[in-house]
Amino acid sequence: MTETIDWAEFAASLGAIPTETDRALVRQKSRDFYWYSPVLKQQLRGVSGDIVVAPRDEADVITVMRECVRRSIPITPRGGGTGNYGQAMPLHGGVVLDLIGLNTIHPVFDGVLRVGTGAKLGEIEARCKPLGWELRMFPSTRRTATIGGFVAGGSGGIGSINFGQMREAGTLLGARVVTMEAEPRVLQLRGAEVNRVHHAYGTNGIIVELEIAMAPAQSWLDYAVAFRDFADLARFCDTIARADGIAKRLVTAVDAGGAAYFKPLQEALTPGESVGLFLIATQSCKPFEDALARAGGRIARKLTEAEVEATGAVPAFEFTWNHTTLHALKVDKEITYLQSRFPGPDYLASVAKAMADYGDEVPMHLEFIRVDGEVACAALPLVRYTTEARLRAIIADFESRGITIFDPHTYVLEDGGMKTTDPEQLAFKRHADPLGLLNPGKMRGWDEVSAA
Ligand SMILES: Cc1cc2nc3c(=O)[nH]c(=O)nc-3n(C[C@H](O)[C@H](O)[C@H](O)COP(=O)(O)OP(=O)(O)OC[C@H]3O[C@@H](n4cnc5c(N)ncnc54)[C@H](O)[C@@H]3O)c2cc1C
Repeated sequence: MTETIDWAEFAASLGAIPTETDRALVRQKSRDFYWYSPVLKQQLRGVSGDIVVAPRDEADVITVMRECVRRSIPITPRGGGTGNYGQAMPLHGGVVLDLIGLNTIHPVFDGVLRVGTGAKLGEIEARCKPLGWELRMFPSTRRTATIGGFVAGGSGGIGSINFGQMREAGTLLGARVVTMEAEPRVLQLRGAEVNRVHHAYGTNGIIVELEIAMAPAQSWLDYAVAFRDFADLARFCDTIARADGIAKRLVTAVDAGGAAYFKPLQEALTPGESVGLFLIATQSCKPFEDALARAGGRIARKLTEAEVEATGAVPAFEFTWNHTTLHALKVDKEITYLQSRFPGPDYLASVAKAMADYGDEVPMHLEFIRVDGEVACAALPLVRYTTEARLRAIIADFESRGITIFDPHTYVLEDGGMKTTDPEQLAFKRHADPLGLLNPGKMRGWDEVSAA
């Protein structure tokens, strides 16, 4: 797609906008955490863009997009590059658009934050907390991921126990999006319209600014608790998740097989113990600890936010969501994982059955969230990988039990999530990227229509 492009001429057409063509650096910025999946590791090994372009503001983004359309150069947007499925990897080469320069954080007004797409989530929290506000939800990659990458590539995380996932109405309030046209337009999406670009992998517009609803800031205690029996821990998590009077931000259960990989927690754990990770508001620590004692668990580690900061301890949330798999991969390269949701309301029975059937092949990891106001049980179980055929057999078996799988072993947007093309996202792509130059190869619905 890009063999005939004169990259020096293209870079010159961008004037003072910073560019990088060093092969090693471009390759580095063409990667994300795709290697979590042994399947994607094989498929995406050689993928690289041709040039990295780092716009400094919206006007730069418009210039880059105009010059790319003129030459039919594909663009793959990039934030922190922490996506797990090769989302930010340029399958057809071209420009890697590094958006971290668009990082303006405006003051929160009436609980709404207007923020540049490249702002890091950790920076947003650090800036807003002293003013009394915090993010409603963030991925466990808070330190390195950008708000734009989270909206375009993520789904939810810490805070989803209170606010559901990002897709639910009320959190994403506005997005300013630049179109990929000969004369790029800037569109302002509002309310539910933002879902046209949310979790669309940057295939149908470049987000330059977002408006998001914030939550009143609270002071959080960081807990790791230990249980001899995973079933007791899972029940305790369920109790805390449903306890509306206990203010929390994170409810996670990892079985002993997974907990054994948490090197920074080993001193606090006894071999064979399962671990629960929680963020509990300071005001709720007494009722939380009382409930823990009744459930037969014990506190393995308890830190204030200030202590986490001062000691450099790994915060509880960095053992949860996709960080659980990262800790395992640091010890055992053969580990991979699944993303799933157990069918409710009796999800713990379904969890117990899967654990009994798969044993140590699939160490269990649960994340409690809210979906349409109900507590739900998401899961990112580890998998001791042998072959792709075995992995697919486990996925098929989980699905036959009514467990929803969000396949993390594909870079195709639809196959990872809803299994069908979102008609609104496809329609928006027709409008905003008529030549199909944005992150090509990721939206199956578009490729099928173009091929017909
Ligand atoms: C250890 C680990 C833990 C994780 N935990 C979570 C979790 O708890 N919850 C969760 O949802 N995800 C999680 N993830 C996945 C990922 O970290 C998050 O989705 C993160 O928010 C992505 O942000 P990023 O800035 O790194 O985006 P990138 O990886 O750079 O990009 C993600 C996608 O968005 C597109 N994109 C980026 N910026 C823009 C833009 N401005 N306009 C249009 N498209 C754009 C990219 O092309 C790509 O398709 C985890 C990943 C790892 C490795």
